[in-house]
Amino acid sequence: MKLSKYFVPTLKEVPNDAVVASHVLMLRTGMVRMLSAGIYSFLPLGYRVIKKVSEIIREEMDAIGGQEFHLPGLSPREIWEETGRVEAFGDILFQIKNRDYVLAPTHEEIMTYHARNVMKSYKDMPQIWYQIQTKFRNEPRPRSGVIRGRQFLMKDAYSFDTSYENLDQSYGLHDKAYRKIFDRCGIKYFVVGASSGAMGGTGSEEFMVQSDAGEDTVGYCENCGYAANIEVAASRIDVKKRDEVSSDVKEIYTPNIKSIDELCGFLNIDETQTAKSRVVINDGKPVLVLMLGNEEVNETKLESILSGNVRPAHPEELVEISGAEAGSIGPIGFKHRIVADLRLKDANNLFSGANKTDYHFGGIDLLRDVPSIEYYDLRSVQSGEGCTRCGSNLAVFSAIELGHIFKLGTKYSEAMGANFLDENGEAHPIIMGSYGIGVDRVVACFIEQNHDDKGIVWNKTLAPFDVHLIALNMKKEDVVKNAESIYSKLIEEGLEVLYDDREAQAGFKFNDADLLGMPLQIVVGEKKLKENKVELKVRKTNERFDVDVNNIFEKVKELLM
Ligand code: ATP
Ligand code: MG
Repeated sequence: MKLSKYFVPTLKEVPNDAVVASHVLMLRTGMVRMLSAGIYSFLPLGYRVIKKVSEIIREEMDAIGGQEFHLPGLSPREIWEETGRVEAFGDILFQIKNRDYVLAPTHEEIMTYHARNVMKSYKDMPQIWYQIQTKFRNEPRPRSGVIRGRQFLMKDAYSFDTSYENLDQSYGLHDKAYRKIFDRCGIKYFVVGASSGAMGGTGSEEFMVQSDAGEDTVGYCENCGYAANIEVAASRIDVKKRDEVSSDVKEIYTPNIKSIDELCGFLNIDETQTAKSRVVINDGKPVLVLMLGNEEVNETKLESILSGNVRPAHPEELVEISGAEAGSIGPIGFKHRIVADLRLKDANNLFSGANKTDYHFGGIDLLRDVPSIEYYDLRSVQSGEGCTRCGSNLAVFSAIELGHIFKLGTKYSEAMGANFLDENGEAHPIIMGSYGIGVDRVVACFIEQNHDDKGIVWNKTLAPFDVHLIALNMKKEDVVKNAESIYSKLIEEGLEVLYDDREAQAGFKFNDADLLGMPLQIVVGEKKLKENKVELKVRKTNERFDVDVNNIFEKVKELLM
């Protein structure tokens, strides 16, 4: 491809709202342009990468027996009503003026619709159906370029089986295929066992990459691969050590002391000597939640322990529940359920509220004074804490979900009446799985992980072109002649070559080549040509080689392998 004719509108500056590296670089390299918030057009260079990722996905999906479909984006609303997902998706679902249709945010319903019409017998299964197709979601906060768009490309696959054992197999095949896909793309990822969330099901895993642009927080152990969403992640608990002697409980006058920090300052104690109280209402009943010092409650953990409806108690309810206002509430004398974080297990000599406004107790021994207390893991893990599996240090960071594999079970087949007959002629709902990869996200995440201050650093697999050929001075006949012949030769040999044949300054061309980031650059200049040589540069390492014009292909092949 000749750059003089190819539409690659590179930019020096990008709009202020582009802050994430991949977003900035996809704009600067002319891979994409924004049409409207969260809606992006892929331009020729960007679309080449999309096609490469898609091809890898196709190969690996076909290798596990997947059959490629292409479903419409527009779908009848009534199909989505069968599963109740018009309501479940809420505002995320794009509804069009003609209320009979919606724009599909995913395709479980549509695939189930087709399965229902054809898979009548156990003999018709297993099946794996997939597609690479545009999805529409009215995301409330589209951001980070194509990482969270309102329209995006997804590979979505669906498996149809007659038993849960067979579902496990289909799920396992996808797990392997996903690892191969991301490995082949050269993406550094890790796998998180996720909660099944709103989709309902019996098991799922998320393929994640570490990135500041991520909206999920995870705990990850590099040593053993343990990874979990912060909502459920656990770490080795450092229980507060019990002092040998427990003092007596004593009441202390603490006027206007509301927070743990104020209490520590007032009594000149450390926050690890205190227990912080919070009251929530769980299905109408008060529960005291007790944490060590200033540690925050992890809301998801709390909700899963209490189950049912959980809300904070209103300030006006507190006096009635505990006898004291916020800031003076504590475990001794609290007449309702008390749950405490594991770190407080059997701790003594603690300071906490006295359930009397402006008073605290000292010398609290939870073992002696609060026998009904229940202990749970209630806090979020923090970087540096021990992994529960291997003891190494956990890291806590933001991450982006690249892919998701999910045992759906019979949620959709039951709702939509997709049944099959078994060997005995008995009807059962089809057992399904669903498996998604965000194709645009794969491209963006690769860039997140592979760039430097000059631009993108593509690998051979995803690079839009293998080689970026630069003719330094288009006015020199010799340069042009040699560049053209290298260009034709490399193309003949099956390589993809981007040829900068523009009339422009050398510095400008070098900058663009580094920005666009093809793995190899070949520079054809007057000076080196005098010795019948050109310069080869490896983008990633900046290594340079002077290569004889006649040996270029061999050297290129060696460096690209
Ligand atoms: P997220 O939690 O990031 O919103 P999700 O749980 O909604 O993702 P799924 O419904 O499982 O995602 O979709 C499968 C894949 O599609 C995701 O793993 C992700 O790679 C991609 N994806 C989802 N939403 C978007 C979006 N708004 N923009 C780009 N890609 C997306
Ligand atoms: Mg989502």
